[in-house]
Amino acid sequence: MPPCSAQCGKNAILKRPKTGDTLCKECFFEAFENEIHFTITRAKLFKPGSKVAIAASGGKDSTVLAYVMKLLNEKYDYKLDLVLLSIDEGITGYRDDSLDTVKQNRDDYGMPLKIMSYKDLYGWTMDEIVAEIGRKNNCTFCGVFRRQALDRGAALLNVDYLATGHNADDIAETVLMNILRGDLARLSRCTSIITDSGDGIPRVKPLKYTYEKEIVMYAYFRKLVYFSTECVFAPNAYRGHARVLLKDLEKIDPAVIMNIIQSGESLKINENANMPTLQKCTRCGYVSSQDVCKACE
Ligand code: SF4
Repeated sequence: MPPCSAQCGKNAILKRPKTGDTLCKECFFEAFENEIHFTITRAKLFKPGSKVAIAASGGKDSTVLAYVMKLLNEKYDYKLDLVLLSIDEGITGYRDDSLDTVKQNRDDYGMPLKIMSYKDLYGWTMDEIVAEIGRKNNCTFCGVFRRQALDRGAALLNVDYLATGHNADDIAETVLMNILRGDLARLSRCTSIITDSGDGIPRVKPLKYTYEKEIVMYAYFRKLVYFSTECVFAPNAYRGHARVLLKDLEKIDPAVIMNIIQSGESLKINENANMPTLQKCTRCGYVSSQDVCKACE
């Protein structure tokens, strides 16, 4: 490998997927963490003294998010009170194992952990729902339940922000998916770094510009413990098609991920387009685009 391109005097051991820079391990850590710090400060994601729940699944994104948030909070004195919030969907062989990883993160990073389960909140696990409805549209149900479960958990913990591990690839995929589906409402808000869940607790995405491949590299070189098994119901997700398309495009030009995000950020939706208005569900009071939200339905 050539010398580290940050000119620290060491030899490079990796090539950054995002920029093509050849770096040593320490300079990669610094570049990776500095970019997230820049994202947080430029967007003014958190007010000093706030309480922040990190949505933790035990996967690479949320594990790296928790690790880097703790590190930056101490290094730059953000004065944040960090807690972990996990959702137990009740998926045997997937979530039960990944929650063990979250508990490990709790112990390693010294952050309190709150787990909200579908069974307690809705009376159904995902395993039971799939047994009832079959292997179709599982993520549609699960996504609606999880969104609401996170809102409820955040309210229960009395936090000021909910930070999620959405990375640059996730956001580029979502832009593509919303274009493919013609979903203008979601397209108009999917690139926002801060979104309002409707109950006053903003959701923020500190990893918005962080490439998935670099998250995997960072976790590997930092020796972070994370869970990498796919959900057993995932292969049926429509998102998978957008992911395959994005991965193919990324092989041709890695900049495609940032280009799609920037295109999404610059899009202006025609004022005359038919957009749903957000309101409160008449049954549970959580945010909904219909009288009765999808979770209650
Ligand atoms: Fe739920 Fe689908 Fe994610 Fe599995 S892949 S946890 S079913 S949203």
